[in-house]
Amino acid sequence: MQDVDNIVNGQKLFLKPEYQEVLENKKQFESSVGATNFQKVEEIAEWTKSWEYREKNLSREAITINPAKACQPLGAVMVGLGFENTMPYVHGSHGCVAYFRTYFTRHFKEPTPCVSDSMSESAAVFGGLANMKDGLRNCNALYKPDMIAVSTTCMAEVIGDDLNAFVTGAREYAQGELDNVEIPYAHTPSFVGSHITGYDNMMKATLEQLNPSRTEKVLDEERINIIPGFEPYLGSLREIKNISKMFSDKIIMIGDHEEQWDTGAGEYKLYAGGTKIEDAKTAINAKATISLQKYSTVLTAKTIKNKWKQDYVTCNPIGLSGTDAFVMKLSELTNKEVPNELKNQRAKLVDAMQDSYSYMHGKKFAIWGDPDFLLGMVSFLIEMGSIPTHIVCHNAPRKGWEDDMKTILDKSNRKEECNIWPGKDLWALRSLLFTEPVDFMIGNVYGKELYRDTKIPLIRIGFPIFDRHHLHRYSISGYEGGINLLTWITNSILDHLDEETKNIAQTDYFFDAVR
Ligand code: SF4
Repeated sequence: MQDVDNIVNGQKLFLKPEYQEVLENKKQFESSVGATNFQKVEEIAEWTKSWEYREKNLSREAITINPAKACQPLGAVMVGLGFENTMPYVHGSHGCVAYFRTYFTRHFKEPTPCVSDSMSESAAVFGGLANMKDGLRNCNALYKPDMIAVSTTCMAEVIGDDLNAFVTGAREYAQGELDNVEIPYAHTPSFVGSHITGYDNMMKATLEQLNPSRTEKVLDEERINIIPGFEPYLGSLREIKNISKMFSDKIIMIGDHEEQWDTGAGEYKLYAGGTKIEDAKTAINAKATISLQKYSTVLTAKTIKNKWKQDYVTCNPIGLSGTDAFVMKLSELTNKEVPNELKNQRAKLVDAMQDSYSYMHGKKFAIWGDPDFLLGMVSFLIEMGSIPTHIVCHNAPRKGWEDDMKTILDKSNRKEECNIWPGKDLWALRSLLFTEPVDFMIGNVYGKELYRDTKIPLIRIGFPIFDRHHLHRYSISGYEGGINLLTWITNSILDHLDEETKNIAQTDYFFDAVR
């Protein structure tokens, strides 16, 4: 039990004898300790590390174990929070929304505003129109947003609720109360796609609904939009905006959630920062739009290219060549020289890459995450001479992504040793790690169990990261982001080297402080 004079955290609390006794008793019923044939359990555990099990594991279709993706509405919530005074509103079950808020809050260590109309059993039978009518009015009355961004959970999608009809019906029912509120809506069925599909659906819907078709095109020759995509690194958003400002004040980020998840101490702000709704409403007039995540904006791209007839390009400013391409695109679109400040940043990254090259070169990595994150990170690993042995993308798009990845791998002289695993989860990765081990893993918090299992060190880069603090504040994009990546990866390699060389008179003949 806790002692009021010496309150301890859970880690120490459960080591106390009274808890240990309970845990021991529990094991008799629930764990392999109490199994009728303990030896068999051990034998099977070992077998799960074999090539034979790997073949079965990789051909598994019916179940997902330890997914490396989240569901659609989570991405839609991120889009909503990227606009000024906007409340994300999820039509569906309350529990789902509690999950989205918690997920983001644990990653960003900040509160996440988001409401739900809490559909329950009766709504599942009769439809959720009544919930939507009351929910939108309540949301408006309580939180006074300028915009409510509506998405859906599985429940609303399974019963086939029609958001167009529901939002129109709710507006009528509100008798003018909602007339000054923008309410873009997107269906985000979670049983297909992932959080990046939800991001895409919500971004597309928001831009389309705020920018209805116009008979006359109003072109703003200087205006450029940048859509960041599902970006969990707030520092990356900051860095992209800083780079853009060096070229023009008229480059506007569409869906900028940086401030919302990075408010200071003091009075709590429900809404912070975000793209101005006026800027979102004039996005259609821009000369061009740059998406920083090709596969988080597939449908959005179609709207911008085909309906808006606007120039649309994708850049992935992670690593040296990715950032170069982005910077040169800005230079081309704004017709301006690359500023010296950026050239200096680039030179510093190249210098740092040379400093760290010998440590990253030849190291084998397993890496997982979202499609665009992986394209950028693998490109960076190859620039550093590393070998991305296993590239796992659970939410890999069906078209294009694998070919894009192969084009990047073609630049490596060890490309035969690199394997792309689209659609595989982290339980599949476990088999890959036991049968074809690597030196390091790069991925999100869910690699922690893989580390405990395989003893392969985990470098935490990706989304979500719950068990380390403040990494999301840094950038992984741009030249400065490249230095951050180098710092994290190289220092993890050096930490590991220290561990391996600490045994007196056995392995301590090499230690790196001499260099
Ligand atoms: S998958 Fe469906 S039920 Fe699960 S959290 Fe997402 S929306 Fe809710």
